[in-house]
Amino acid sequence: MSSFSRREFLHGVSGLLLLPLLRAEQPDVILFNGKIWTVDENQPLAQAVAVSAGRLVAVGSDHDVVAYAGGNTRRFDLSGKIVLPGFIDAHSHPLESGRAHLRMVACDLPTIAQVVAAVKARAAKTPPGQWVQGFLYDDSKTEHPITREELDAAAPDHPSIIYHRGGHIAFVNSLALKAAGVDEATPDPEGGRYEHGPSRRLTGRVADKAVEGIKRLIPLQSIPDEDRDALKLIQKMVTSKGITSVGDASASPMDLHAYQNAHSAGELSMRVYCIMIVDSLDRMLAAGIRTGLGDEWVRVGGIKQFADGSISERTARLSQPYVGMPDYYGLFLSSEEELYENSKKAYGAGWQLCTHANGDVAIDRVLKVYERVQREIPGREPRNRIEHCTLINDALVRRMRTLNVTPVPFSGYVYYHGEKMHYYGAERLTHMFAMRSFLDAGLRPTDSSDYTASPLEPMMWLQSQVTRKDKQGNAWGTNQRITLEEAIRCGTINGAYASFEENVKGSIEPGKVADLIVLGRDPFHEDPAALSTIPVEGTMVGGKWVYES
Ligand SMILES: [Zn+2]
Repeated sequence: MSSFSRREFLHGVSGLLLLPLLRAEQPDVILFNGKIWTVDENQPLAQAVAVSAGRLVAVGSDHDVVAYAGGNTRRFDLSGKIVLPGFIDAHSHPLESGRAHLRMVACDLPTIAQVVAAVKARAAKTPPGQWVQGFLYDDSKTEHPITREELDAAAPDHPSIIYHRGGHIAFVNSLALKAAGVDEATPDPEGGRYEHGPSRRLTGRVADKAVEGIKRLIPLQSIPDEDRDALKLIQKMVTSKGITSVGDASASPMDLHAYQNAHSAGELSMRVYCIMIVDSLDRMLAAGIRTGLGDEWVRVGGIKQFADGSISERTARLSQPYVGMPDYYGLFLSSEEELYENSKKAYGAGWQLCTHANGDVAIDRVLKVYERVQREIPGREPRNRIEHCTLINDALVRRMRTLNVTPVPFSGYVYYHGEKMHYYGAERLTHMFAMRSFLDAGLRPTDSSDYTASPLEPMMWLQSQVTRKDKQGNAWGTNQRITLEEAIRCGTINGAYASFEENVKGSIEPGKVADLIVLGRDPFHEDPAALSTIPVEGTMVGGKWVYES
């Protein structure tokens, strides 16, 4: 179904689905004259929807739906525009990113000189001795990875740390290393790395557990209303891109509190599934909390653990070395026993398991744990997830199928992080971000940005999956291409499934929440290589326009 004339489209709109309650009350809003891709198998296409108290109450043709309008019903003419269900960003870090936008220097800049200038400008406004922090930096998008010396020059009087946008590595200056008591003789921590250059001099690049050790030194100054401001800022970004629900993939109890505050104050414009960081497991268990608590706006999700490092920063743990880096396989972040102990405790108490694993050997480790836990604790519909689940093989996919594991990939990577794909190599890429393999196996992969790791852009997910081409036009693993319709399903209804909410959201059908987006152009008539340029013109969440261009 790659192209559709208006006549064919209208022909496809048949029948009317509605809720019985529509007879009793008149809808608050009717949207009509649209081309609505519902992602509902019972009625894939529609022209109009009626919304009452934040929910869809009727979906069908203009003729049928508009007939329900009453005197107080607001009517909205979609002018033939394309409507999709709101996207579900199944794995992202919205609150943490919002705070970073408020506190740190944005380093998503194309040259070292620009990054240095940005850090320098922030240092000039910061009392000497206080930390200067940057984020959104990407070492493969500047001439070379920023060095310790360059950061020393930018911030000679401040300990400074610049986080990679992937969140697993960082670049620090000499004062930061000194503050951490790290010198050339310091051994790497378990699951972490201090990079050394010629004659063992530290380069300032630190990875995973080594980043955490430095991060802990930075005093947490509390800023009044910070969380509220951070949420306002990030929600604006999220909804302007057509995302109506997010999975916060490492929420702390403090984050959950902030989301609840925003909810109570009526300030939420996106729905949040809070995947709680494993450090909070005991506190959550003691409080008798488990996955599912909450409502359609803020819900407690699964428990988040890490098996290995990241793809964009080349710390994912692989079975074969990175290309051009002999003997370097990436990092494991948890042992199988650690993952098992936490998983058993959480799963036994009714939690969904959401474990980060990128490399094939890390995925194997997680599956061993899930196999054990699901065997020992039978009788639940598991729906455990593997966050990212990047490098797979047929045997891993078969085991996922047996366990009904949901992969949560970030498929914008092929496009956005194309310049890193050579570290993995063309052959390995045929098994990475493996949407085709997942779908063919009958799994329900979701989609996600993992923001800040990649941009908050669902249209980029679609482009990446349909073309498997990067920004430079290089194609990677084209065997994993999927159709536009499949890609839309992954980004909508599959995301709902991954949070046990497929009866609440993820498609445009009566009874579900009224979360939808209006696009500026028709993706089914667009050059696949330009999908990411289609603007979102309107985003509705719970029957309210939360973004209009
Ligand atoms: Zn993440």
